Amino acid sequence: MADRRKLAAGNWKMNGTAAALSEVTALAGSQGEARCEILLCPPATLVERMAREAEGTNIAVGGQDCHAAESGAHTGDISARMLKDAGATYVITGHSERRADHGESDEIVRHKTEAAWAEGLTVIVCVGETLSEREASNTIDIIKGQLAGSIPDQATGHNLVVAYEPVWAIGTGKVPTTDQIGEVHDVIRSQLERRFGPGVGRSVRLLYGGSVKAANAAEIFAVENVDGALVGGASLKADDFGGIIAAL
Ligand code: PGA
Repeated sequence: MADRRKLAAGNWKMNGTAAALSEVTALAGSQGEARCEILLCPPATLVERMAREAEGTNIAVGGQDCHAAESGAHTGDISARMLKDAGATYVITGHSERRADHGESDEIVRHKTEAAWAEGLTVIVCVGETLSEREASNTIDIIKGQLAGSIPDQATGHNLVVAYEPVWAIGTGKVPTTDQIGEVHDVIRSQLERRFGPGVGRSVRLLYGGSVKAANAAEIFAVENVDGALVGGASLKADDFGGIIAAL
């Protein structure tokens, strides 16, 4: 079994102004001895300030999305180079809210991931089925298709993290059973091993995301092939996120 460092990743989504940076200070203060890696992905407007706030702490900062191009006429978009320049070391691609709200296909996600890798960012590629896909027993096929289409060929244990986020569990308070999480994580692991070889396949970290909170974190983290979490709502407050980190 590869030695995978656990990762607690927070996705602030479209939440937070400068006042929220006090949560970073609080988190750094309470989690300075944490064994796992800690990441916060604030809205783009806060990346640079949060990176400055987190300097010298054990908290890394990431973007929530990036454009596939290096620069150019793409009003409102942000490139991987800009995120890196602002102090980010990670970026999320293919979050289901991007896939749904912005029509992002697997191919677009793959190109964004390539662009982020070209800048040396570690990418958290998100996959996950909708409720109707689960009810139609299509979960595994959907996940396999998203993995194949969204992850470029140059994956390593360092540049790639995969997050399994069932769309129906995001922000709903509904969480899959540990058996359901384990089944999908095992499939993701075996797909990565098959495609990239056992060395890379076993070293990529797999996160679960969707309604993770302090109260259910320990149970989820005990599932084989779960190497951490991608947390939305419960990452906004240092106390809540700290409770999840403590379970890792
Ligand atoms: P949630 O979001 O923890 O608020 O359910 C998770 C995510 O979308 O990453």
